[in-house]
Amino acid sequence: MNDQPIRVRFAPSPTGPLHLGGIRTALYNYLFARQHNGTFILRIEDTDQSRFVPGAEEYVLEALRWCGLEADEDVNKGGPFAPYRQADRDEVYRNYVQVLVDRGHAYYAFDTPEELDDLRHQYQKEGQEQFQYNVTSRNQLKNSLTLPEVEVRQRMDRGDPFVIRILIPENQEVVFHDLIRGEVSVHTDNLDDKVLFKSDGLPTYHLANVVDDYLMKISHVIRGEEWLPSAPMHLLLYRFFGWESEMPRFAHLPLILKPDGHGKLSKRDGDRLGFPVYPLQWTDPDTGEVSRGFREEGYLPSAFINMLALLGWNPGTEQELFSLEELIHLFSLERIHKSGSKFDPEKAKWFNHQYLAHLPDEELAEMLVQLAVGSSQLAMGSLQLATHQFTRSPAHQLSDLVYARRIIPLIKDRITLIPDLWTNAWFFYFAPESYDLQVREKVWKPDTPQLVTSFTAEAEQLRVWTSESILQLVQDFTGRTGVKMGQLMMPLRLLVVGSNQGPGLMEIAEVIGKENFISRIKTGKSRGNS
Ligand code: GLU
Repeated sequence: MNDQPIRVRFAPSPTGPLHLGGIRTALYNYLFARQHNGTFILRIEDTDQSRFVPGAEEYVLEALRWCGLEADEDVNKGGPFAPYRQADRDEVYRNYVQVLVDRGHAYYAFDTPEELDDLRHQYQKEGQEQFQYNVTSRNQLKNSLTLPEVEVRQRMDRGDPFVIRILIPENQEVVFHDLIRGEVSVHTDNLDDKVLFKSDGLPTYHLANVVDDYLMKISHVIRGEEWLPSAPMHLLLYRFFGWESEMPRFAHLPLILKPDGHGKLSKRDGDRLGFPVYPLQWTDPDTGEVSRGFREEGYLPSAFINMLALLGWNPGTEQELFSLEELIHLFSLERIHKSGSKFDPEKAKWFNHQYLAHLPDEELAEMLVQLAVGSSQLAMGSLQLATHQFTRSPAHQLSDLVYARRIIPLIKDRITLIPDLWTNAWFFYFAPESYDLQVREKVWKPDTPQLVTSFTAEAEQLRVWTSESILQLVQDFTGRTGVKMGQLMMPLRLLVVGSNQGPGLMEIAEVIGKENFISRIKTGKSRGNS
C-alpha cells in the first residue's frame, strides 16, 4: 500500500432503515480504517429527494452507535470536509458538472419523462431491446448534441426543464482492478448516458458520489456488489475530471443471501421465517408497520457484529468468536469471498448465546433485574409471556441485584436472547398461577398427593435449607419409602414451577427459600392438584 492515508466512507442513502447488509458494509469499512489507523467517514447521500424517508438518517446514526461503529467524521461531528450531507453540498456539484459540460463529456438533454416513457413502451411493443439513452439513441433525441446551439440557449433561457447526461465514449474498454473481484472489464457500448444532474437542480448519486469521494480524499471504496455495474462509469468520471491517478481503490462486497441461498436476503424473508433483518426496530412512517430489530429481539451488539463479520469474510482458521479488537487485527479485504454468503438465523442465535454465556454474572444479573422490574409490562405480552400474568405481588423483590446474582449461574446456559433471562427466571420471583396440564397428566398419579404431603411435612422440619440438605432429605425419603426420585420430584416441580421446566429443583428450592417452597406446594395442591 502506498503512503496515502486510509480514508474510507460508509455512504447510505436515507431511503429507509438499514438492512443488516448495510451494517456489514459499515463494519468492513470500519475494520479496514481502524486496522490502518485511518479515518472512517459517514456520508449521507440524500440527493434523491423523491426517495427521502423521514427518520432514516437518525436511524442510521443510532444503528451505528448501537453497533459501536461510530464514524470519525459525520453529519453531527463534522470534520475537515464538512458538510457530510449531500443535500447541503449542492453548490459543489453544480460547478463540477459544468466542468464536464465545458470539456464535452456531458450534455444537456431536454426530453421529458413522458417522452422517454413513450419510447420505452414503443421499444417494448416492437420487441426491441430495452430502451437506453446511449450511443445509438442519443442522436435521435432532444439534446445539445442534436439541437442547434441557439435552440439550446433559448430553451435554457426560457427555463425549459433539462437534465445533464454523461457522454459515454464509443467503442472503448473500461478496465479496473477490484480488490475482491480482480480485473473487471466493461465495453462502453454497454453503458448508457446516465443522468448526472437532474432537472430539480440536484446531482444524481453517480456525480455526487464521485465528486465527494474525490474531495473527501477517499482512498478505498468498500461497498455492496449492487454498485459494481456503476463502477465503470464512475471510473470514466474520474478520467473526465482528470483525477484518475487519485482514484480510490474499489472493493465490491458479495451479497448476503437468503437462508436457502436462493437470492438476496430481504425483509420479507425475515417476516416469513421469523427473524429480524434490521439492526434496530423500524416504524414505517407511511404505513405505521413496525419491524423489530436485532436489538429488540435481545441480541448483544458484540454478537451481532461478530456474526456479520463472518458473513462474507473469514480469517482462514476455524475460529468463530472474535472481539472487535481481534477483528480489527485480522480483517483483510483479500479474504472477503467473491460469492454471496447465506444468512443463517440459527447461527446468529448461536453467536448471541455464546456472547451472553461469556458475560460476567454481575452484568447478566443487572439485565435480569431490568427485565424483572419491567415484568409487569412484560406480562402484558410484549415478550410473549402472556401465559404468566403476574397479578400477585412477587415473592421476592424484583430490584434485588444480590438475589438476581444467585439465579444467574443456574440459568445462564439456557439463554440465547436477552429476554430468555426472564422466561427462565420468572418462577424465582412469582409462584405459578397455572399448571401445565400435559405435564400434570403425565406425573400426577393416585398416590402423588399423599407422597407430596408427607415429604412436605418432613421438609418443613429441615433446619438447614440448602440444595445439598434438600437433596439429602429427598434421598432419605425415597430410600425409606421405596418411591423413585422422579415420582416425587416431578410433581414437586409442577407445583413449584408450574411445568417441567427450569434448572435443578433443589437449587430452585434453595434460592426461593423454604417458606416459598412449602407454600407453593400447599397452594398448588389446594388448587386441585390433589
Ligand atoms: N448511496 C449509496 C447507497 O445507498 C452508496 C453506494 C456507495 O457506497 O458508493 O448504497
